[in-house]
Amino acid sequence: MKFTEYHFSDEIKNNLNRMGFKKPTDIQYKSIYPILRGEDLLAIAQTGTGKTAAFGIPIVNRLHERHKKGETKFLRTIIMVPTRELAIQLTKVFNDLSAKTKVKTVCIFGGVDQDPQIKRLLKGADILIATPGRTFDLVHQGYVKLKKIDTLVLDEADHMLDLGFIDDIRDLIKLLPEHRQTLFFSATINKEIKKLAYSLVKKNAIRIQISPKDPVSKNVEHSMCHVKMEDKRFFLERVIKENPEKKVLVFVRTRVRAERVSKAMDRLNIESITIHGEKDQKDRFDVLNAFRKGFFKVLIATDVTARGIDIPDVEFVVNYDLPDVAENYVHRVGRTGRGRRKGKAISFVSKNEKPMLKEIEDFLGKEITTIKMEKWEYQETIDFSEDTHLSIKELMGQIQEIDKKIKKKKGKRK
Ligand code: AMP
Repeated sequence: MKFTEYHFSDEIKNNLNRMGFKKPTDIQYKSIYPILRGEDLLAIAQTGTGKTAAFGIPIVNRLHERHKKGETKFLRTIIMVPTRELAIQLTKVFNDLSAKTKVKTVCIFGGVDQDPQIKRLLKGADILIATPGRTFDLVHQGYVKLKKIDTLVLDEADHMLDLGFIDDIRDLIKLLPEHRQTLFFSATINKEIKKLAYSLVKKNAIRIQISPKDPVSKNVEHSMCHVKMEDKRFFLERVIKENPEKKVLVFVRTRVRAERVSKAMDRLNIESITIHGEKDQKDRFDVLNAFRKGFFKVLIATDVTARGIDIPDVEFVVNYDLPDVAENYVHRVGRTGRGRRKGKAISFVSKNEKPMLKEIEDFLGKEITTIKMEKWEYQETIDFSEDTHLSIKELMGQIQEIDKKIKKKKGKRK
């Protein structure tokens, strides 16, 4: 079924067309009509499957219809997200969906001056996209008015729980009108999240679960190879050089490693940028923008960016280090293969990461495809490297090799 066949306003159909959305994705197909009917929804779907528009389209369409009937602007929908990046990203989708309509979205999050956000709120909005902390601040200061809210969306609910937002969410719900629609979206589900979800939605909520058996999107071809810790940079170099036109997102465990890997790439004239929690908010926006616009083809990131961030044309994800938490594997590899695009992901697994690999595979319910390498193939990757900057250990190894050869020659002469 195409979007043109849906009972949406023409303006919304035009916007979908402008966004390049012709047909709904699975999650959109299953969510849109129940949401339009006013049902509560519990939706579990992998990253990059079009979740934002799954609730965005019916919400914007509904508000637009109300405006057409002459209803004035009032905060009707509140969408809670765990991070600022996600808040901004969702706002962009909502702005695109509501272009050339009167539907207005305002985005608020902490860590920045609240005055510009207050100014925007005072101008009036229908939809608020927000992180919990700033929402409370502005509710208590009287700038966010909740009494006419009729739709609550919890996006990336699993992450909300991770970050310990559960009490905030419960407190917020106490302030919302009882008669409302609650939409719950999450990429992963476990016992705790299930409990949270059921405590928030109506008993007859519609449950949607897309591909529950394999949490990794089917658009992502993901594999792993065994690589010694000290050789990982050579393998990264190879991936990048063999995919010169592609945007590569590289995940590392720590901020220090992000910078270190970036320096190693520098030495090979591979330009890269880094993003991690130590960078301030403005830097993080700038970095993501530069990567989004393609000014840099390689972004080296810690898990700060693993969830929710939608950079549509990332074609390759490299897990330079495995994540510390198994489910983050799904979020990381889900940065590629977004919407209807295809993507690839590869993980470099060193000896001491094998227990983590096992945890990830248990979480996925299956083994990750292993790229088997003969010794010579492995060596070829190292030889392929243009990295002339040798570590002391490597240097010592080479000196010992030369020593051995000299001794051998001397032995022959005797
Ligand atoms: P999301 O899961 O909401 O982050 O969306 C993932 C990606 O899919 C984004 O790049 C969207 O622009 C894209 N997308 C969402 N819905 C559709 C659709 N119906 N057709 C094509 N692309 C879509």
